[in-house]
Amino acid sequence: MESAGVPEASARRWCSAVADMEVPYGDALMLPFWAGAARKELRVQRCLACGAHQFYPRPFCLACGSDSVTWVASSGKATVYSLTTIHRAVAPEWTPPYVVALVDLDEGTRLTTVIVGDAPCAIGDRVRLAWREREGLPPLPVFEKEG
Ligand code: ZN
Repeated sequence: MESAGVPEASARRWCSAVADMEVPYGDALMLPFWAGAARKELRVQRCLACGAHQFYPRPFCLACGSDSVTWVASSGKATVYSLTTIHRAVAPEWTPPYVVALVDLDEGTRLTTVIVGDAPCAIGDRVRLAWREREGLPPLPVFEKEG
């Protein structure tokens, strides 16, 4: 039996793996990401079949459809794709104004993040990984302007 073009065995293998995991924080597919973040290592998925990187995580490769995906450490270097300044408080831990950005990691995948630091940042600027500590939670990957 197939569902949406996914062979049943493949779908069941993924569902079983997720169902068997303990999820102390967030989504089961994100566990390797948060385990890396706890050590201040930014992880993204890499396809073992075609080498493409992707984030957020999926149980298969978006480029070739293979379910042979693993996690690798990112260089933490990126280019700002887009950004906006938030002027309204939406969460108590974020005091406006602050900059939310989409950054293109050098590995070739895009990540939503926050730009920190005093240097003004613009589309096309190079940024590097930093970490924002949080009480009782893994640190969040944020970025700061290079140079
Ligand atoms: Zn692939």
